[in-house]
This record gives sequence, structure tokens and C-alpha cells, in this order.
Amino acid sequence: MDRGNKVKVDPRRQLPSVDKLSAELIELTKDFPEWCAVEGARYGLEIARNVLEDGGPMPDFRAEAYRQAQVLAIPHPRRVVNATGVVLHTNLGRAPLSADVAHEASIIAGHYSDLEFDLEQGVRGDRHGRLGDLLCALSGAEAGLAVNNNAAAVLLAVNTLAQGREVIVSRGELVEIGGSFRVPEILRQAGVQLVEVGTTNRTHAQDYRDAIGADTGLLLKVHPSNFEQRGFVKEVSLPQLVEIGKSSGIPVVEDFGSGTLVDLRGKGLPEDAYVPSRIRYGVDLLCFSGDKLLGGPQAGLILGRREMVARARRNPLARALRLDKLCIAALDRTLRILLEGAGPDRIPTLRQLLEPLDRLEKKACELRDSLVQIANGRIDIDLERDSSPVGGGSLPGFELPSWAVSLHGGLEPNELSLGFRNSKVPVLSRIREDRVQLDVRTLLPGEDMICSDALKEIL
Ligand SMILES: *Cc1c(COP(=O)(O)O)cnc(C)c1O
Repeated sequence: MDRGNKVKVDPRRQLPSVDKLSAELIELTKDFPEWCAVEGARYGLEIARNVLEDGGPMPDFRAEAYRQAQVLAIPHPRRVVNATGVVLHTNLGRAPLSADVAHEASIIAGHYSDLEFDLEQGVRGDRHGRLGDLLCALSGAEAGLAVNNNAAAVLLAVNTLAQGREVIVSRGELVEIGGSFRVPEILRQAGVQLVEVGTTNRTHAQDYRDAIGADTGLLLKVHPSNFEQRGFVKEVSLPQLVEIGKSSGIPVVEDFGSGTLVDLRGKGLPEDAYVPSRIRYGVDLLCFSGDKLLGGPQAGLILGRREMVARARRNPLARALRLDKLCIAALDRTLRILLEGAGPDRIPTLRQLLEPLDRLEKKACELRDSLVQIANGRIDIDLERDSSPVGGGSLPGFELPSWAVSLHGGLEPNELSLGFRNSKVPVLSRIREDRVQLDVRTLLPGEDMICSDALKEIL
């Protein structure tokens, strides 16, 4: 019976189909491939349906679809230029590989390799190849193993030596390290019982001794990374902890975080990151990252006693945490460069850390001169001495002095730094009050040109 009421149409029925909307997007622009248009259209229409279902007004689903299609079309990760001065910038991928190491890894990636094949015998070979030998030669350890990252190394070391038992850690070392690595959580996942000793600021040797019991499987020391305590502070040093472990027959593991295999003594850098010194203290297993101060690919390195490394290698977890062939190749080549003594020349992280200030000043002068020409008076451009942390939780409390080109006037610092980020090759700068700085320490060869091109685009 028609009462003369208008039938209320479900507004969702006014929405176009995915096919129609994606065809519309493609017609509109050549900015993205077809699959992005289709996925963008799905996304936009889903938003619209959800809003309408909740009784909201018709949203601009075309704009949403377009934005999503654009986002999907950009590959990730993209190359960027690091002008922040932070050598091991975790958000920017930490250590860059040298061009020749990256090239060799790419050859392994694009071809078959003898990854797990013994060419001489014609039988199955060892995937880890010479990595253990190279690590031992560099560190003086009895044995070595590489896994996916340092978080995995700690998980594997702790699980191997103490599963189902107690692990003693100082309360001053129960830290969280960027990117959600929390010591207590890793220990829980490793299947061990955490026993906390000492207080936040002070832990004594006797605290460890008192906590040792029949169920103790391991004494764990954790480098607090970028967390630093000053004042009324006491920690038990690694040699002391090794002594306690020896006298009670309990293994000692250190999560060292960022370690270097190059002696940086007398080079203007803190000296306590040198892995061989830690090994000499007699620690049973030492874990550290491959892509921090070492300057290699993402990896977790476990060095120490032969028998314990062998047990870690046999642990089924080691299979789940193993390195892929690209990383193995890149790590192998990086370690060989270090063994040749060429690390400070050929490994970008080490080269950047050791670059002398006068060379940086010269580099900054050259960049300034070329930016001044481009700016042609529209922006003030000067040299500035500044400093930045090393990053990646390495060398806490230490600031590395450097030279930067500083830009101010014309544009707001936020606008200018956004302009640099939006350039063809994004350039990441540093803001200091009213200025935008490009720190030359972290520029790789040829990247001064990219900075110049970026400024051209901006102006
Ligand atoms: C960086 C760091 C980790 C995590 O290492 P990844 O290689 O990022 O997994 C763990 N412990 C310490 C002390 C660290 O500094």
C-alpha cells in the first residue's frame, strides 16, 4: 500500500563499484599503476561504507582512495640522505654498507651460490661458512656464531644456557632499548626465571653472590645502551661478574649491544666498546649487533667459549633465527675488510666516526659554497660547529663534534626541513632553533650534490 512516503534509499547504494572508482582514478592520473588504483579504491570505499553505516555524512571517498593509491605506489624502504650527523640512526637503517660490500651481496642475491654446498667434496656444506673463524680471528674468542640480530642473539644465548632456570640481572640493567627490546620480556620469551638483584642505582658483588642458588643457570650483564646514570651509582664490572661466575660454576653472558672490532684507542672516541677486551675478561658468551659500531649488516653476533657456542648452534631456536644469504655475504665481506685492517678506510660507519674535524670543515665549506650559489641571497647560509650522539645506543653520553651547513631566513625551519624531506632523494636534516642544519659527517660520497639538488627543488 502506497502511503505516499518516499522510500529511504540506503546511501551506501550510491557508492560506485571498486572497478568504476579505480577506472576513474586511472583516468584522472598516471601517478600510479593499476593495482594501486584498485587497492586505493577498495580502501576509500570501505571507509565510506563504515562512515555511512555509523550514520555519518558521505565522506570524500575519492580523495581517500587517491591518497591511498599514491601511498601504495611508493616503494619502501627508499634511499635517503642522512644529514643529521647521527652515524647509527636507527630510523634510517643504522650502518650503511660500503658500496663494494653491497655489490657483492647483490651478486649473491641475484645468483645461485655455494651457500650450503661444499664445492670441493660435492656435498652439503656449512651455511655459516667461515663466519665463525673470521669472528674468532678478529676478537680472540674461541668460537663465534651469527644470527638475525642482537635481540635474537641474547634470546638464543639465554635460552641455550638457562632454559627453565633462574637468570640473575642487576635492577640497574633491566632496561628498555629503542624498538621495544625489553630485557625482562626477552628473558620471559627465553623461558627463564628473572631474578633481580641490587637497586636501580647500586648493585654490589655480594648481591649476586646472595642470589645464587641451586636453580641459578646464568649471570647476565646488560649494557644499558643509551640510558645513563650519574651520581650515587655502582655496578659490578664484567671482570668482577666473571670472577663470581667462576667461583660458583655459573656461566656469565653479556648483552654488549654495540661493540667494535677495531681498536679505537687514541682516536678521540670512548674506548670501552672494544669487543676483544670484553672477551679477554673471560666472559662465557658475548652478544652484540652487526649493524651498530661494527659497521656491517643487521646481525647478532655471539662470541665466546667453544662448547657454549656449539650448544647455541645446536639449539632449534638457532634455525628460526638464522641469517639469510644476503646478510651472510655482507657480514663475511665486512669481516674480511676488518681483518685486512682496512675498516677505517672502507667501512662507512668507521670512516664517518673517525673523520677528522678539519676534513669535515673542508667538506662543509664546499657544500656551503654550492648552496650559497643556489640560494642566491634568498636564504642565509653559514658554517656551524655542532655535535651529535653516535646513535643506535652506542657510546652513551658521548657527543661527536662536527661541522654543519646552517640555513636560516626565508622559510620557517619546519617548512625548510619538510622541503628537504620531500625532494627527489629525501634529505634528512637537523633543526636547531631557527636554523636547519646539514651535518656533513654522515654524508656519503656524492651526497653533497643531492643536497644541492634538493635546495634547487625547494626554491
Ligand atoms: C641495540 C641493542 C640491542 C638490540 O640489538 P638489535 O641488533 O637491534 O636486535 C640489545 N641490547 C643492547 C644492549 C643494545 O644496545
